[in-house]
Amino acid sequence: DLVKMRRALLSVSDKTGLIDLAKALNDKGVELLSTGGTAAVIREAGLPVKDVSEITSFPEMMDGRVKTLHPMVHGGLLALRDNKDHVAAMDEHGIGAIDLLVVNLYPFEETVAKGGDYEDCIENIDIGGPAMIRAASKNHGFVTTVVDVEDYARLLEQLDANDGATSLAFRQELAQIAYARTAAYDAAVSTWMADAIGNNAPRRRAIAGTFVQEMRYGENPHQTASFYSDGSTRAGVSTAKQHQGKELSYNNINDTDAAFELVGEFDPADGPAVAIIKHANPCGVSRGATLVEAYENAYNCDRTSAFGGIVALNTTLDAETATKIVEIFTEVVIAPDVTDEAKAIFAAKKNLRLLTTGGLPDVKSGGQTWRQVSGGYLIQDRDNGAIDLEDLKVVTKRAPSDQEMQDMLFAWKVAKHVKSNAIIYVKDGATVGVGAGQMSRVDSTRIAARKSEDMAEAMGMDAPLTQGSVVASDAFFPFSDGLLAAAAAGATAIIQPGGSMRDDEVIKAADDAGLAMVFTGMRHFRH
Ligand code: 5GP
Repeated sequence: DLVKMRRALLSVSDKTGLIDLAKALNDKGVELLSTGGTAAVIREAGLPVKDVSEITSFPEMMDGRVKTLHPMVHGGLLALRDNKDHVAAMDEHGIGAIDLLVVNLYPFEETVAKGGDYEDCIENIDIGGPAMIRAASKNHGFVTTVVDVEDYARLLEQLDANDGATSLAFRQELAQIAYARTAAYDAAVSTWMADAIGNNAPRRRAIAGTFVQEMRYGENPHQTASFYSDGSTRAGVSTAKQHQGKELSYNNINDTDAAFELVGEFDPADGPAVAIIKHANPCGVSRGATLVEAYENAYNCDRTSAFGGIVALNTTLDAETATKIVEIFTEVVIAPDVTDEAKAIFAAKKNLRLLTTGGLPDVKSGGQTWRQVSGGYLIQDRDNGAIDLEDLKVVTKRAPSDQEMQDMLFAWKVAKHVKSNAIIYVKDGATVGVGAGQMSRVDSTRIAARKSEDMAEAMGMDAPLTQGSVVASDAFFPFSDGLLAAAAAGATAIIQPGGSMRDDEVIKAADDAGLAMVFTGMRHFRH
């Protein structure tokens, strides 16, 4: 299954390593064919190379849209060398076999990432490259396909080891890699186009991504893991700049994403906000007059859980806040930006990862999120639902005060980012109790209240901060028990979607307890 390499076609947008590769192939007696720009670089290095246009007897035309799309090229890539009809066709038409294809594609993903305009992106959709890659890979019984600069060295090692030939196993592996590349490439085009034309239809989306990094392990040490980019330029963990600390782990990426998406809910124009996350759930979220105040309030919600957490800020990390953050062990800090002073303070904490994003994610933007289940993927619109004051319906005899109303809207934004069943107690722009991920709503209500009691005890306070707080529930209270548990913890107002069969009973319980309650008409399940 060894195939000797005699003739190679090189056509690359990224010219990294090209000259060295061409030189090595030339030394091994491989004849080089190439397209315009690639040929120019090879020729300039003083190496012999034949232009593809010479073989096709056609000039490259239409701004390079048509260069290699020709039977002289595709016949040379696709012909089965052990099929006498194919060989006869080659002879009849003077088609020479191509044994090696080295292609990397027009930088479509990079053009999108750079914010290229529509025309720019369209022009950067490679046509001939993927066609050749797919042809050569199909014919991996005879042809070797290289689509990644990283594989040049392996190719040369393979040729050295096999006296200028490649093994079938090697060609199969490269073909598999090549199809992953063209699939990811077309998925990037399709995803970009869906966004560009605003097609949010859930059908007919391509699911693929580009490999970014291999992680040390997955959720647990016995699981391998890697990160793939979907080409999105959304401000967040995947596009952030890391200033210090070890590489992010699988769990770090997951939790940091949750943290930054949550803090993105809070427009910095309305003041600083901080979210502290553990295991993808917030253990404290707060606004503040200053960033450091927001951090301290978020921290005070649940100091025990905040240890080893992820801290996300909606504005530039300053020295004062950095000084506070380093007082406890924190895994990751993510912010739109960082001051030099804050950076210097973090520099002493070698293990603390610091990420800056240059901005906040647009929480109102559309797009899809997906997760895997056995047998496939579940895809849905991003939960970009938002509620304004005018959407709220007061359902109790007592209307909420302005402060309660503000706190409820804050709590509602947090609720969207807490695993169901989610119960969030908020007081004065800060969470004071978070109940997450319980199988019953009343349990979430009680757990959050109990944690607040623990905090009050630890901080030497007379009463837990849930006294005089408001409560958000991500979905309706099916019975009045959850609402009564919140009232028992001292809550005075409740925000929830409404829509339960027993709404009447729940409203009556609220009235009897003197609570104010508003319905949002929208729920925020997060499982
Ligand atoms: P060069 O720099 O050699 O002029 O162009 C190399 C690039 O052209 C490679 O990225 C390759 O994938 C692409 N390419 C090769 N043939 C064709 C073709 O027929 N049409 C288009 N659009 N791109 C091609």
